[in-house]
Order: sequence, then structure tokens, then C-alpha cells
Amino acid sequence: MKACLLHSPAPAESSPLEYRDVPTPVPQRDEVLIRVRACGVCRTDLHVVEGQLPPRRAPVIPGHQAVGVVEQLGPHAKRLRAGARVGVPWLHRTCGVCEFCRTGRENLCEAAVFTGYTADGGFAEYLIAPEDFVYPIPDSFSDLDAAPLLCAGIIGFRCLRVSGIKRGAVLGLYGFGAAAHVAIQVARHWGATVFAFTRDPQHQQHARDLGAAWAGSSRETPPEKLAAAIIFAPAGELVPAALKVLKKGGTVVLGGIHMSPIPSLEYSLLYHERVLRSVANNTRQDGEDFLRVAAEIPIRTEVELFPLRDANAALQALKRSTFRGAAVLQPT
Ligand SMILES: [Zn+2]
Ligand SMILES: [Zn+2]
Repeated sequence: MKACLLHSPAPAESSPLEYRDVPTPVPQRDEVLIRVRACGVCRTDLHVVEGQLPPRRAPVIPGHQAVGVVEQLGPHAKRLRAGARVGVPWLHRTCGVCEFCRTGRENLCEAAVFTGYTADGGFAEYLIAPEDFVYPIPDSFSDLDAAPLLCAGIIGFRCLRVSGIKRGAVLGLYGFGAAAHVAIQVARHWGATVFAFTRDPQHQQHARDLGAAWAGSSRETPPEKLAAAIIFAPAGELVPAALKVLKKGGTVVLGGIHMSPIPSLEYSLLYHERVLRSVANNTRQDGEDFLRVAAEIPIRTEVELFPLRDANAALQALKRSTFRGAAVLQPT
């Protein structure tokens, strides 16, 4: 099969992914072999490729938002049938026995395996995944539209959940890329008012097109204080910026896996029971709940399509934020 291999992390501009033939994997035990029809490109892929996340497997095939069709079942796989259309997310497998797995927090599993980081991912014509960790994709979504739901969508959904946002309240979204363009649709479906904070005028317009009541840069003062904020951009200086415009008792959620250092804070920014917390990974329940809600709304994704062989170009475009919505790779 064709695949994009990362041998060692390097800046995206140096095109570190090698597009080449590799053996098609064979599903073992409870795994299924999936023929990839589309795979979303996430900022976490950029962090893997550039080494902000320490290398854990070399070479590795990145990509953790794969939509495809089950072609072959491992000897113990029995839940899925050949031909089923499924999505493979970041959470590849958990141990099932650690204290976090046993208490409904498998997103924090001590021995979690991650797609496209510690296991080969979807920047390829095929990938394998444990059958219990893939999601059936609702029929209403095309392959391309479904791909960005699998990380940008699911992680954004978990961020919304833990933000505690309520109907009628104001939510701030910092950074307006793949995750925010899905999260805003869920937040508005729940009756929240959304303010979008992003430098890029094109992304500000995208936010307004999707129903943001206000869009501006993080240096501007929004018309109202926020009940909650989600920071998707990996920039630590956004933390004090968001706390400054957050109501008493409000929550700032950090949605990324990596962030530049957070500047020191005056305690008064956090006082009055403001909460600052991160979100790490997702549980399978988050994914199932989100995909149900996504089909109900229904979520409309905006995708920028790249051929699989141009994965480096897709990562470079993501780094420079040159498109609206989410980048998706498609094998030819
Ligand atoms: Zn575990
Ligand atoms: Zn991701």
C-alpha cells in the first residue's frame, strides 16, 4: 500500500513525510483492516511531525481521523462486518484495567495507544484498529465531511461538555480552525452565544458565517464577558487574555495536546472561582455521543482536500492557516 512515513520529526517546511510503498498490515486478534477513503489532518499531526510531541515510534504513519471501509477481520473480531464504514479516532486502544479505565476516564488511561503516534495511522491506503475503538459513521455524512469529526469534532465536543456552557450564555472560542468550526455549530445548537477570537480576518469571517455574534482578535475587548472559553490555538499567551474577559465562576478549557508556555498570572485573574483546565484525548462515550448529535444537527464541515501524496503540503497549509475549516487527505 501507499503510505506517508515519518522517520524523524522535522519542520513541516522540510517535507519530512516520505510517500512510499509499505506492506499492507494484517489484522491480529480483535483488529480490523480498514481501507482508508479519507483522513483528516489535525494540529496534533503537525505536533507529531515537528516533534513537539516526543517521538514514540519510528517510522510512524501519522493521521488519526480516518474514515474507511472494513476489509478484513482479525481472528477474534466479531462486532463489525466486512463492508462496514467506520471512523478511526486518536484513542486507538486503552488497557481497560487501570484506575482511569475502571472509573469512566479511559481518556486518561495509563497505557493508552494513540493512532498516528504510538500506532500507525491513516495517512495511508490502509490501517488497522481494534474493532471496539472504531465508530460507525452516520450515513448522512460523506467520507470527506466525516473525517474532521473524528478528532476536531470529538475533542471540541469534550471541551464544550467540560466548559459547562449553558443555553443563553456567552462562549468564547480562541483559534478558529477545524475544531472551532465544528464546536460553534454544537454550541449554537445548545443555545449558546459564541464569540470568536482569531487574528486572521478570513477566519473571523468564517466564524461570522457560522453564526458567531462577534469576531475579533484576542487583544480586542468583546461586547460582553464570557461564561466559558475554549482555547484551541496552541498559544499560552491566550490564557491570561481569556481569563481577563471571563466572568466570575467561569471556566477556560485548553483543548490542545501542546501549548507554548503560559505566562505568569496575577492571582486576581483566576480568583472568584474561575477554573482553568485542560482536556486530554476522549473517551469512546464522547465519540459516540458526539457523532449522534452531529448527525442530528446536522454539522456541516468545510474541508480542503489534498491527495494523500501531498500530505506535506497539507501540513504546511495547516501551519500557515491558509484555508477555512479542515484539511483532509484522500488516497487516489
Ligand atoms: Zn487504562
Ligand atoms: Zn487530533
